[in-house]
Amino acid sequence: MTEVVHTPRVFSGIQPSGGLTLGNYLGALKRFVETQESGGIETVYCIVDMHAITVWQDPAKLTHATRELAAGFIASGIDPARSILFNQSQVPAHAQLAWIFNCVARLGWMQRMTQFKDKAGKNSENVSLGLFAYPALMAADILVYHATHVPVGEDQKQHVELTRDIAAKFNNDFGVEFFPQPEPVIEGAATRVMSLRDGTKKMSKSDPSDMSRINLTDDADTISKKIRKAKTDPEPLPETLDGLEGRPEARNLVNIYAALAELTPEQVIAEHGGQQFGTFKPSLADLAVARLAPITAEMGRLMQDPAEIDRILAAGAERANEIAAPILRRTYEIVGMVGAR
Ligand code: ATP
Ligand code: MG
Repeated sequence: MTEVVHTPRVFSGIQPSGGLTLGNYLGALKRFVETQESGGIETVYCIVDMHAITVWQDPAKLTHATRELAAGFIASGIDPARSILFNQSQVPAHAQLAWIFNCVARLGWMQRMTQFKDKAGKNSENVSLGLFAYPALMAADILVYHATHVPVGEDQKQHVELTRDIAAKFNNDFGVEFFPQPEPVIEGAATRVMSLRDGTKKMSKSDPSDMSRINLTDDADTISKKIRKAKTDPEPLPETLDGLEGRPEARNLVNIYAALAELTPEQVIAEHGGQQFGTFKPSLADLAVARLAPITAEMGRLMQDPAEIDRILAAGAERANEIAAPILRRTYEIVGMVGAR
């Protein structure tokens, strides 16, 4: 038996599958920064370009989106000296461990993944094999660092649970206690920011409608316009939180306000309950612009020097590789692959 004491380590990733959205910021980036700032735990943050290509990406756009995402991490407050920031394809251990996990995970487990069903839609015979196998790569992303905590939005909970199943099956199949059971960390008022066009659908960077989301690159006028046009019902905001029941669009705007203002939804309702959307939306727009404009400006500044971004990512990949390579070697040894040292 291999006995490993798993020191706490945080891992999470974002795909360069488009520009960053307010959902990515509130559900992921802002919380990554809080974890980094709280100190005392190693934080590993990854731009998961190999996940992005599970659906077609124009090569030039992928390059741009990768650098822009790196700029988004840094502009939001990720310090590449204190956190490890890199792109997935540059640390080969992710793909190597993913293959092992393809052989551990069961087909039936993958067939239950709601993200695959959502993304494949009616077209499931015609999507890439990579899209189907995505969760095994995600398990490898996390477990190749022996990460113990995975801050994600609500939509990724099922994938982190699958990661736990893969870790448990590997340990059980080989009679080891090698991989930890990572915990999804899903906290705050905005763990599931919804589309501005449809309060039952998650806001996504790959949604065809740009009006469905706020991008971190949107200027103040665009943000205001998108919030003004966001779908709502005709009722004013309720006086109590219970009154948001059955009103997904209203709830979404309250949650976004709460997360941006660092208040609870109760506090937002206490302050704004009874207001018409004609009053609440402009307050929300002002708040969103005040919070996002400095990030947008800093992203723009960083994007002036793509070579510097590339250097930061390369240095991050080197540090990531130092953690991942020995864990992969030990995995190969456990599996019985000759030459693994
Ligand atoms: P895609 O549409 O290409 O899947 P995405 O917007 O869903 O893009 P991902 O890169 O898949 O973004 O996810 C990055 C992180 O952002 C994950 O932790 C995910 O849970 C979180 N996230 C994504 N969308 C939202 C959202 N609407 N609300 C809260 N968190 C979100
Ligand atoms: Mg997604």
